[in-house]
Amino acid sequence: MANKRIYLSSPHMGKAEEVFVKEAFDTNWISPLGANVDNFEKELTHYVGATDAAALVSGTAAIHLALKLLGTKAGDIVFCTSLTFAASCNPIMYENGIPIFIDSEPGSWNMSPKALEDAFKYCEKEGKLPKVVIVVHLYGQSADMDRIKEICNKYNTPIIEDAAESLGATYKGVQTGTMGKYGIYSFNGNKIITTSGGGMIVSNNSKGIEKAKFWAAQSREDYPYYYHEELGYNYRMSNVVAGIGRGQLRVLDERIAKKKEMFETYKEAFKDINEIEMMPICEYGNSNYWLSCITLKDESKIKPTDIMEVLAKNNIEARHIWNPMHKQPYYEKFKFFSHIEEGSVSEDIFKRGLCLPSDTKNTDKDMKRIISLIKELF
Ligand SMILES: *Cc1c(COP(=O)(O)O)cnc(C)c1O
Repeated sequence: MANKRIYLSSPHMGKAEEVFVKEAFDTNWISPLGANVDNFEKELTHYVGATDAAALVSGTAAIHLALKLLGTKAGDIVFCTSLTFAASCNPIMYENGIPIFIDSEPGSWNMSPKALEDAFKYCEKEGKLPKVVIVVHLYGQSADMDRIKEICNKYNTPIIEDAAESLGATYKGVQTGTMGKYGIYSFNGNKIITTSGGGMIVSNNSKGIEKAKFWAAQSREDYPYYYHEELGYNYRMSNVVAGIGRGQLRVLDERIAKKKEMFETYKEAFKDINEIEMMPICEYGNSNYWLSCITLKDESKIKPTDIMEVLAKNNIEARHIWNPMHKQPYYEKFKFFSHIEEGSVSEDIFKRGLCLPSDTKNTDKDMKRIISLIKELF
């Protein structure tokens, strides 16, 4: 019998999820309406410190509605972090916008304020500023929001925070997702908490969130018969799924603590291996440590794929860092602003980086197994 499978990051249920789901069954609110949806929204806004939220089918849907709320139309430019998952920028294309990708800074792996400023200057010269800036908080760590906001404010450009990976992380004491005009979270199966699939848009603009709920429910006007003045979407979260979310929210802090502990365990284990560097952790906030990531130094003979292969042979899942959007065949025709003169920081992190198993169900024994397999390589 092969060793048990160790996942990168898989669902980890607490005790209350089933209770809330059962409540949905008992009351027959098996629909995109009901107490769980309302309460999940209330409880999440309470946790992050926003006033309003709409629970949706996915984080991608949340980004899409946030772009629409900020008036993104065909031909509008939208800036977006390049080192991210495609879901961050796909909604720009849903609205026929024009993405411009921004490189990372090495200190946080997140959007480089320098590259952002260069992109603004370019657009200013071209006479067409971006409509929106989408800032991603990668792998659970906040971007340097003060510096990014200062630049965006100078150009009067609103920010959408893609906090899909960073629920519970803070920047100078403030929760990620609450610093821009709109913030979004994801509850996909691999995220720090999951509803099997789902997302949330949050804001302090209650009118905006009300509109998001309206669009997400097919834009049905308040008439005695079906009446539509606008295009609508079927984006509302179901009351069953929201029950899972309410339960998961109760174990979020526990999950963050475990993720941090795993990161520290890797850090301690690799401290004497010169070739391995942990993802940098910034002083300005608390990461949620969604995934423990490393980079291998240029001179390392062992490459990320070597580690992945050894782990895969032992039934352990690891993954490459996101492949930057400006390197994707679908997106490479769009402009990109680098943090450096030659090449880019995001490509470098992609080439040298690796996400290690960061499943909160990992035992100490699992961690020892992973670590010794990696250490044997060096
Ligand atoms: C997971 C993820 C999303 C998309 O969330 P879904 O709920 O899967 O649609 C968006 N952005 C980032 C950075 C993500 O990691």
